[in-house]
Amino acid sequence: MILLADLALLRAILHVLPVSNPLLAPLKFKIAPLADLGWEAVLGFRLHNSRLTYYLPMKRILYIPFDQLHTEYGVLKDSDPKNDLVVMVQSQRMTTGRDWHPQRLYFLISSARNFAARLGELGYEVRYEKAATTVAGLLKVKQEFADLPIYSAYPSSFRMFESLSEFGVNFVENDFFLTSRSDFNLWAERQKSFLMENFYRAQRLRLGILMHGRDPVGGQWNFDKENRLPPPKNYSWPEYFKNEANSIDQDVAKELGIQVPQTWATTQVGASLALAHFISHSFANFGPYEDAMADDSWALHHSILSPYLNNGLLHPSEVIFAALKAFESGAIPIESCEAFIRQIIGWREYVNGMYWFLGPTYRQNNQLQGDRKLLPLFQDSSKTQMNCVKSIVSDIESRAWVHHIPRLMVLSNLALLTGSNPQEFLDWMREVFIDASEWVMVPNVIGMGLHADGGLMMTKPYAAGGAYISRMSRYCKSCVYDPKLRVGENACPFTTLYWDFLDRHQAKFANNHRMAQQYWGLRKLSDLPELKQRAAQVLSGLEKGEI
Ligand SMILES: Cc1cc2nc3c(=O)[nH]c(=O)nc-3n(C[C@H](O)[C@H](O)[C@H](O)COP(=O)(O)OP(=O)(O)OC[C@H]3O[C@@H](n4cnc5c(N)ncnc54)[C@H](O)[C@@H]3O)c2cc1C
Ligand code: SF4
Repeated sequence: MILLADLALLRAILHVLPVSNPLLAPLKFKIAPLADLGWEAVLGFRLHNSRLTYYLPMKRILYIPFDQLHTEYGVLKDSDPKNDLVVMVQSQRMTTGRDWHPQRLYFLISSARNFAARLGELGYEVRYEKAATTVAGLLKVKQEFADLPIYSAYPSSFRMFESLSEFGVNFVENDFFLTSRSDFNLWAERQKSFLMENFYRAQRLRLGILMHGRDPVGGQWNFDKENRLPPPKNYSWPEYFKNEANSIDQDVAKELGIQVPQTWATTQVGASLALAHFISHSFANFGPYEDAMADDSWALHHSILSPYLNNGLLHPSEVIFAALKAFESGAIPIESCEAFIRQIIGWREYVNGMYWFLGPTYRQNNQLQGDRKLLPLFQDSSKTQMNCVKSIVSDIESRAWVHHIPRLMVLSNLALLTGSNPQEFLDWMREVFIDASEWVMVPNVIGMGLHADGGLMMTKPYAAGGAYISRMSRYCKSCVYDPKLRVGENACPFTTLYWDFLDRHQAKFANNHRMAQQYWGLRKLSDLPELKQRAAQVLSGLEKGEI
């Protein structure tokens, strides 16, 4: 008689030995007929592909991807530890093969392992597989557990959707966003141009957030004009959030050969502490300094919550609830609350909706024919003298994160002005940012940053010269280049390349009424031939890592 207590040991043995092994002949003899009678669930074994396979009396396999780590959403929402076996797969594809930032790997892997441990504490049987691909990991478990059906919430990328669908995974709703894909499509199909501001207002009304009836709280939908302050002098920026590492974090960091980073929480509790830290230390002044770039704080008043929102440790509704509660207590001015809410229910939902609406081929867009290879300064901050770029790339090297203005107005702007290949730049961004996922990077880089979609998402490109960076930061004060100069050895590369960009793309943008002022400026330039010469020098210097 097989006792239940022996099952774990037997599972290990039976897993590797085929039933033809003489040692197991008696078991085979006994169990096969019972399996035919459907009693295998009682005994815990069944025959599968000529192997005697351990079989829990489970009804389903639940697959949890590394970006759905929440106990109350996705496929876990309606789960039952008695009936459901949870599977997580750490695929080689995710961890090797590309030059991933070590902190990104640390964050994703440690969060997943901590989550698996948490599910174990909650009474789930969890299999954490390491395999070449997600499907290979799932196949292994499926064979072992006698072809139980696999369920998962809809994945977050086209590629994963395709491979899991082919494998026969059953999908349930992906409720890690506030807007379903079908609801977003209903909105998008009725638009002439996909203005985020229109979507955002519809979201405020639909979700009833910051509304008095049909009117916006504070009398305005948008406080953007109040929110464009440069970094103040002699200002005390909020203190940084610091995570306390646990033994899983330490093990993962050791495996990756890095120090445990203090910046990143890796559990639901840790992510909630990071949220509480933002609400009490940074939220009140989030709005006014949202676009500023400081050289004495890498975080400014930003929330640094994107990693947890994107891997599921925090759900957007939890973040909104905490923000509105703080606002209702009177501690947060409307311009900060509205700005933050806009990022979460507006930009984040809009970008996810657009990713699915625009389809899998959207990421290949290259409508401005950018063909320059990735500049060396993106991969190595020592390859440039441009103070803004050097400082921002070095921040990324340190912690895999910078806020949205460095991403948009410095890094993407530089890739846009230099005609860099959008897909190479996208790949680099995917590798180095802690919060990078396909659904969020593709629209942000291809649509917003590089205007490679021909203006599907944005009505004009985010192209800017050194004047913008000079206004919103203090980088230029200690730079070898001068943001006011467009020609000559000391000319700011951004300024030179900005005019060169407008000139190169006249046919495309000169009739865009939102760019009329910029083209009027171009027509007034007296030194265009000299500027074109300097632009060629700058481009070749950037390629050599000498600018
Ligand atoms: C070229 C480019 C690439 C980007 N790549 C990513 C990315 O890979 N992953 C990512 O999460 N965000 C990305 N963003 C958006 C934004 O820069 C980050 O979400 C933000 O900097 C994260 O820091 P935070 O949590 O402190 O954000 P906060 O400034 O505190 O904003 C709060 C939240 O709003 C959301 N949000 C704000 N803007 C956007 C946006 N444009 N798209 C989606 N969500 C937004 C994020 O969830 C963020 O956590 C990108 C933006 C640009 C311009
Ligand atoms: S001068 Fe130009 S390159 Fe230097 S920091 Fe300013 S914007 Fe950047």
